[in-house]
Amino acid sequence: MQHRRQNGVKTSRRKMLDGLAVAIKNNISTTELPTTSSSHMLKEYNSPFDATVVKLLRNSGADIVGKANCDEFGMGSMNLHSIHGAVVNPFVPKVANPGSRHVKRSAGGSSGGSAAAVAAGMCYAALGTDTGGSTRLPASYCGIVGLKPSYGIISRWGVVSFADSLDCVGIFGGDVSAVQNIFNILSVYDERDPTAADVESRMTASRASQERMEQWSDDKGSLEGLRIGIPQEYFPAELAPEILEPVRRTIHGLRSAGATIIPVSLPSSSYALSAYYVIASAEASSNMARYDGVEYGFHVITPYGTDITKASNVYAQTRSVGFGEEVKKRILLGTYALTADAFDNYFLQAQRVRQLVKNDFNKAFAISDYLTNQAPSHSKMGVDVLLHPSAIGIAPPLEGERNDLDAYVQDVLTVPASLAGLPAISVPALVRNDGWPVGVSIVGQWGCDPMVMKVAEYIE
Ligand code: GLN
Repeated sequence: MQHRRQNGVKTSRRKMLDGLAVAIKNNISTTELPTTSSSHMLKEYNSPFDATVVKLLRNSGADIVGKANCDEFGMGSMNLHSIHGAVVNPFVPKVANPGSRHVKRSAGGSSGGSAAAVAAGMCYAALGTDTGGSTRLPASYCGIVGLKPSYGIISRWGVVSFADSLDCVGIFGGDVSAVQNIFNILSVYDERDPTAADVESRMTASRASQERMEQWSDDKGSLEGLRIGIPQEYFPAELAPEILEPVRRTIHGLRSAGATIIPVSLPSSSYALSAYYVIASAEASSNMARYDGVEYGFHVITPYGTDITKASNVYAQTRSVGFGEEVKKRILLGTYALTADAFDNYFLQAQRVRQLVKNDFNKAFAISDYLTNQAPSHSKMGVDVLLHPSAIGIAPPLEGERNDLDAYVQDVLTVPASLAGLPAISVPALVRNDGWPVGVSIVGQWGCDPMVMKVAEYIE
């Protein structure tokens, strides 16, 4: 993490986050410290403005202590694709398998630096981004709490775009209350963000969520009346055996506290991963087009004799050197998916799957989707939240044999909520084993962020 010099200036009135240290992912603009997005392309980039989220944090008294490493432009699941190097998971298990104690493990990606900074106790909270799981996955691997809010609830103004229809600012904290505090400060309408959810949808969703919560949350810790859905598709064959037991025990704990556990099915989720990679890459290919070596960012000084009147020479050379392999892969895949030949078979199909995934969620929840105004189908029969493992395994080792597909499969449990724009929080499983941490995710209807955090409080 790059650290800012302390200036020691304090105001006399106490503010909500007075003096609390917060780290910011390197793809969120800050006037102090470069905003590199972990890319050679933006290595020297210093933003002339603070992102709205940074401004809100500063206004609340937060001390922005550093910029955190991440996968280049947010593309990755293990924080391996970065000009700053890989992030090592700082978690220290009480008991590790013999011989594996000193194996360096991934902090997860893409917001690995933010998660590691919180897990190592370097800050009170950290901001990440979450396009398809980049906050929940690192939170699960590092044993901390990570929230992907409802799409459009927190401003993206000043956040470097990866895939605009999916990008969210994520929040990491050592516990749920830290995440709640930061969420309360950041979840305001920002007219500068064209994808910001309108005030009316926010208020309607928040009222509906509040009414529902009043039926089950009380001060005595009873969860009587809370309906939790367990989606069967979220326990795939790839799930590591060490994940199952802590998740089972968490479910058992919630049931003992009075919650009703209901098996549900979200059949389209099985197609979500493929749809996500088509949509995210297509949007990324379009977003990455701005890094052409002309307007801003890195550009290659073309060798003597090159015809620089041909813009394509500057573009091609700049982009070949400036982007890492993973980003290039996404640009190629995304550009292909958007070509006339492939559009119907890839991009359009992926959008159809996205709608099916959304429909599945809407059928499962008791509350309607107040953003798109889709009617509740089951009302009382529906569930308040869904619960599933956050990841298919514990933090993977940084070194050693790795199949190319492994990194993509990590996202299989997180991408459905991203496609549907839903709030999802990863919290360490209720009964921790003494080994590497396991996260469980609580997913709610759009705008029910306070509800998912409330349920997470019972788990931690
Ligand atoms: N791992 C996913 C990807 O590489 C998600 C990344 C993210 O949420 N920023 O696309």
